[in-house]
Amino acid sequence: MRRWNEWGAEGVTYPLKQGLISFLEREIGPGHPWTPVPMESVKPPPSALPSHPLVATDDESRIRHALGQSLADVIRLWSGAIPAFPDGVAYPLADEDVETLIRFALETDSALIPYGGGTSVVGGINPPPDRKPILTVDMSRMMTLEALDAESHLATFGAGVTGPRLEAQLRAHGFTLGHFPQSFEFSTLGGWIATRSSGQQSLGYGHIEDLFAGGRVITPVGLLELPPFPDSAAGPDLRQLILGSEGRLGVITQATVRIRPVPRHESFFAALFPNWDSGLAAMREIAQERLPLSMMRLSNGAETRAFIAISGIEERFPGPMKAIKKLLGGDEMCLFLFAIGGTRRKVRAGRIATQAAIRRHKGLSIGRSIGERWRKDRFRTPYMRRSLLERGWGVETAETAVPWSRVTRLMKALETALRDALNDEGERVYPFTHLSHSYNDGAAVYTTFIFRLGRDADTALARWEKLKTTACRVITSHGGTISHHHGVGTYHLPYMEAEKGKPGMEALRAVASALDPAGIMNPGKMLPW
Ligand SMILES: Cc1cc2nc3c(=O)[nH]c(=O)nc-3n(C[C@H](O)[C@H](O)[C@H](O)COP(=O)(O)OP(=O)(O)OC[C@H]3O[C@@H](n4cnc5c(N)ncnc54)[C@H](O)[C@@H]3O)c2cc1C
Repeated sequence: MRRWNEWGAEGVTYPLKQGLISFLEREIGPGHPWTPVPMESVKPPPSALPSHPLVATDDESRIRHALGQSLADVIRLWSGAIPAFPDGVAYPLADEDVETLIRFALETDSALIPYGGGTSVVGGINPPPDRKPILTVDMSRMMTLEALDAESHLATFGAGVTGPRLEAQLRAHGFTLGHFPQSFEFSTLGGWIATRSSGQQSLGYGHIEDLFAGGRVITPVGLLELPPFPDSAAGPDLRQLILGSEGRLGVITQATVRIRPVPRHESFFAALFPNWDSGLAAMREIAQERLPLSMMRLSNGAETRAFIAISGIEERFPGPMKAIKKLLGGDEMCLFLFAIGGTRRKVRAGRIATQAAIRRHKGLSIGRSIGERWRKDRFRTPYMRRSLLERGWGVETAETAVPWSRVTRLMKALETALRDALNDEGERVYPFTHLSHSYNDGAAVYTTFIFRLGRDADTALARWEKLKTTACRVITSHGGTISHHHGVGTYHLPYMEAEKGKPGMEALRAVASALDPAGIMNPGKMLPW
């Protein structure tokens, strides 16, 4: 069973190592412990929807679909102060159900929120507090593999399929999609498409934009069918409108994706650089040489220190860690992870070429064990947030993408601004960064920050808001996109017009009103109402 008020499955925990607790107590100070309210104490108001056989209006369904997974959402869930609930939740089994639900929403003048896994961190599935009634359409029952064209490497799924179910169904036939966002355990194919999601191995497998070949979208004015052509010059590509549409244009009910055979071998490796500049130069060179890697990730010094504290590696191997630091001789050791998949020969050739680039930039390859450990833990780390909250520490992230020439400036400005953002309250913030995705022309900058929540939800939310606003302002003023992969939702909406321009926003609005003239689809997300 999934937790109602935090990330993850009931019973799965991620206890903090003593090294991390001491590290955070040193960096930001001990927190004031938090405990969540029980679900029974949360009382949604009466539903504003008339009854319908496809729509559940019980309290638990409404509570479980009221908020996503940002830190602000979780603070609200823990405190029980939930600003708005859906008036009903439907779980369609087929396209016909979705059509019926859209008709019902139109007849009752309800807003309809498509819901995948509810893992949005930008307020994407949260009901707007000032719009009634709200019907949330949870796609979790449309999750089967409907067709597999092994010859063309195409697979068609119900859009509500989660990462593990999708991969299990493909692997039974020897295929993989290779889309592994950190939210893999609960996020869905439809949600990935609707938010332009990026998996951790996008360097090798591609982003969801590359993997989404076609599908079916049910809009308030009818069915939008997107055939899976390998390519097409028949005017603009309508798939690009659906990618990132965040439920504003319709409900994606089915998607055909580009799959590939499961690689025979896949290994994750690690290296250390003596400082940020040498790691960055190596990563850029490897990206621009297009070495056949499926993942690269460079942590800065602050993140490397946090990683060491989280993993407890220094406590277990103090001697080797001391020797490595001495050998590297730099001022801020930076961890670099990379992965390669394919035949044994390809993995070997890729490793040798990558390690040569690492050496050219004064890095030290440290083999497979840290990389493999990271792979094993990568979907478990979100569970750590609960353990941090219990000790009164909040953790949130900010992400963007910029050309290589701006990466360091943006990262430094972002970390400095976050570090100083709570100075007026005498509070310290610990920010740390990695480059999560790389391109020929630039990289995605992903900054995590940890701070003390304070004694109550109001203090915690005010601190979160201050930090979030600070991050958005620094990102946009340094030429970054407001989101590389989390999407817009409501949190990033105020920054959209600056990025898209007035005509761009008008064009998006015109598309939304063509497909949804009554404005019922997920109002207030990605576009203003
Ligand atoms: C711990 C954690 C780690 C994360 N890591 C990553 C990461 O590595 N990469 C990444 O890209 N993102 C990441 N995210 C963000 C989030 O998981 C993604 O945005 C994801 O794509 C959302 O998928 P979902 O199925 O949960 O969608 P939801 O959260 O349910 O919905 C997100 C948006 O998509 C719309 N939507 C959902 N399903 C449909 C549908 N079938 N039809 C039309 N619209 C739909 C919703 O209306 C909403 O606007 C992370 C989030 C968390 C909490």
